[in-house]
Amino acid sequence: MTLAKGLIERIGEAGGDAPDHTAALQRIMESVDLEDLGAIGHRVVHGGSLFSEPTLIDDEVVATIEGLVPLAPLHNPAALSGIAVTRKLLPEVPQVAVFDTAFHQSIPPEGVTYAIDAGLAAAWQIRRYGFHGTSHAYVARETAALLGRPPQETNVITLHLGNGASACAVRGGRSVATSMGMSPLPGLVMGTRSGDIDPTVIFHLHRVAGLSIEEIERSLTRSAGLQGLAGANDMREVERRRAEGDPAATLAFAVYCRRIKEHVGAYLAILGHTDAITFTAGIGENSPTVRSTALHGLSALGIEIDESRNNRGDRIISPDNARVAVCVVPTDEELEIAEETRAALRP
Ligand code: AMP
Repeated sequence: MTLAKGLIERIGEAGGDAPDHTAALQRIMESVDLEDLGAIGHRVVHGGSLFSEPTLIDDEVVATIEGLVPLAPLHNPAALSGIAVTRKLLPEVPQVAVFDTAFHQSIPPEGVTYAIDAGLAAAWQIRRYGFHGTSHAYVARETAALLGRPPQETNVITLHLGNGASACAVRGGRSVATSMGMSPLPGLVMGTRSGDIDPTVIFHLHRVAGLSIEEIERSLTRSAGLQGLAGANDMREVERRRAEGDPAATLAFAVYCRRIKEHVGAYLAILGHTDAITFTAGIGENSPTVRSTALHGLSALGIEIDESRNNRGDRIISPDNARVAVCVVPTDEELEIAEETRAALRP
């Protein structure tokens, strides 16, 4: 049960809620009752190949996460400063790192290996890792519960469509394919990230357009996706403009939904059979238009949406007799992190 929740945003930015992570965590600790705090669970974006489950944090684990910073320079440092501050302020409370990558460690080698020079890949830890693992794991399990099926006998394609977005094929509770890669940049179209592009685009922008590597990275991570195509990273805004007939928003929406459909098709093939397709996160939970457009025309594959259920916001939005259940399951990454933290502390 959630006793309290809060959000501190734009840390270190002008007009943000806190000047740095230490101040941010101090504010959180002042506002919660620390008396019966049993443990602290930290979300760590990148666990590399080294962490396949939630891990009790000690000096060695911190050093290992530090070693992974080159793989996740935009994400891991924030988690490390959070860990450092809470360990200093609450040294007696056990702390657990829950990795966004861990759930995807079950993907077989052929699903995580890029067909590049194998020596380079090994030397620089280049492979697919995948992210949003806590969300995909939670949502797949909740989908099985919703359908009254044992999770270990249920296949689900989970579509986490928030500001970041990724797809995952889950076979019997284990991830077997996912759309993000070495970083959270590839795969689906996102609020400000491009998702999949030909890597040659980067060479071209550098060599022909004269952009630096840093400028290209900023462009693909912050000025791409819905933002790049429609000038707005908020799907509500894109949908509103599309309804008014705006051509850029119409194209952005179409590219967004087609990319989802391409992944659903690929993951159906990987799984051979799926019991459910589940939408989650801000867009997945709230946009009936995205859900019905992304899965439009798939009835030959047993995938159909009942539009009155879809528009009403039901949990199961496919017709009763459909071969594949289409579901909407709110994600709860904080709850999943808390549960995984508790599980990690059990002897
Ligand atoms: P998240 O990262 O899960 O918080 O999701 C953020 C995204 O959800 C943003 O792009 C929002 O525009 C989108 N979103 C939230 N509510 C709606 C809605 N009613 N319709 C479409 N998109 C929504």
